[in-house]
Amino acid sequence: MALVNMRDMLHHAYDNNYAVGAFDLVSLDFLEAVVDAAESCRAPVILSIAEPHFSHFDFELIMPAVEAAAKRASIPVAIQLDHGSSLESAIKAINLGCNGLMLDASDSELRENVRVTRSVVEMAHSCGVPVVGELGYVAGYEGEGAELHPGATLLTVPAEAKSYVEQTGVDFLAVSIGTVQGRQKGRAKLDFQRLKKLNEAVNIPLVIHGGSGLNDEQFRKLPTMGVVKINYYTALSDVAARAMRTECKNNSAGSFTDLKKGVKEAICAEVQRCLKLWGSAGRAAEVLAQCAPWSVVEQLIIHNVYHMDDVQLGRLMSESRALLTAIPGVREVFSGDALREDDKYKFCWVIRFANKTVIDSFTQHPDFLNFSKKLFKSYACESVTINYQENPRITGLGHS
Ligand SMILES: [Zn+2]
Repeated sequence: MALVNMRDMLHHAYDNNYAVGAFDLVSLDFLEAVVDAAESCRAPVILSIAEPHFSHFDFELIMPAVEAAAKRASIPVAIQLDHGSSLESAIKAINLGCNGLMLDASDSELRENVRVTRSVVEMAHSCGVPVVGELGYVAGYEGEGAELHPGATLLTVPAEAKSYVEQTGVDFLAVSIGTVQGRQKGRAKLDFQRLKKLNEAVNIPLVIHGGSGLNDEQFRKLPTMGVVKINYYTALSDVAARAMRTECKNNSAGSFTDLKKGVKEAICAEVQRCLKLWGSAGRAAEVLAQCAPWSVVEQLIIHNVYHMDDVQLGRLMSESRALLTAIPGVREVFSGDALREDDKYKFCWVIRFANKTVIDSFTQHPDFLNFSKKLFKSYACESVTINYQENPRITGLGHS
């Protein structure tokens, strides 16, 4: 079990002057290649799912694979939604297993950016999930980067950034200092003077988007100036496509799986290069020892019901299940009847929370209060409620 709290992971990087890679995944090849690279470099890593890429895969289907890879890994892993566009998508991401959020309202005017970001921060913090906000605008020049991030780049203004951070409560700030989303046009010119001022003004760790195409010297300098996370995708997509083109040339009658040969290796090699350059290689053991693990909590409720017929009860149970499932931080809701007639408790609910922070906000949520009032205050009795936290010693997947 190597899922760790993303806030802790990035603060370790902040304290030790290195940056963690957040690599956007668009297929299982990317997922396996990024985890393999991080394992081979003993580096902490962020598996990143970008909302603008949702046309390439089904978010609900890819998340169980991403979570399984994170749990199986022996290096520390966090899972983030990248470029989330709204409160609704942020809630969905947490409920599907993301433990970090990047909210991108950077194309809205400042007041609106603050309003949306603050609402996401309040919700995410009630689930223990940290949020990256973005101020200034990182645009793309060509291809996919330009389609997904149209318009002109706006560099982040330090005084505005300070007030944005204070008003929104974001944990990390993505800044615009001259990078582009997607492919660079010529050599990237970064405004390090601005980065220095931003670092002094906001006093929280910084994030860079549009990492593809920067040179080694630029990459080495960023973590010394408060940058703890670098988002990286285009270069991975380019090396994967190059590997496929080479295979097409060598094997023009090849099948899909023939042409895919070499893709994973190419992505893995590029990720390894980044992890070494950004200083995160070799940090896995320290991060695992110093960061809190990210583990689910399950609430078990067992009870009996009186004065309610089966149809009425069935309807109430299924309506309640749908409402409870939508509450921020709820991963899953199971409700069932005892198999044996003579069991002491006839009904059970198992509600899985993203982590223990969720318990408080869940029990105060209007939909839970309503559920509780309808079922427990009126019909249910002899109920027992217990919260259980996953125990790494028992599962045998030790967090060491
Ligand atoms: Zn980005």
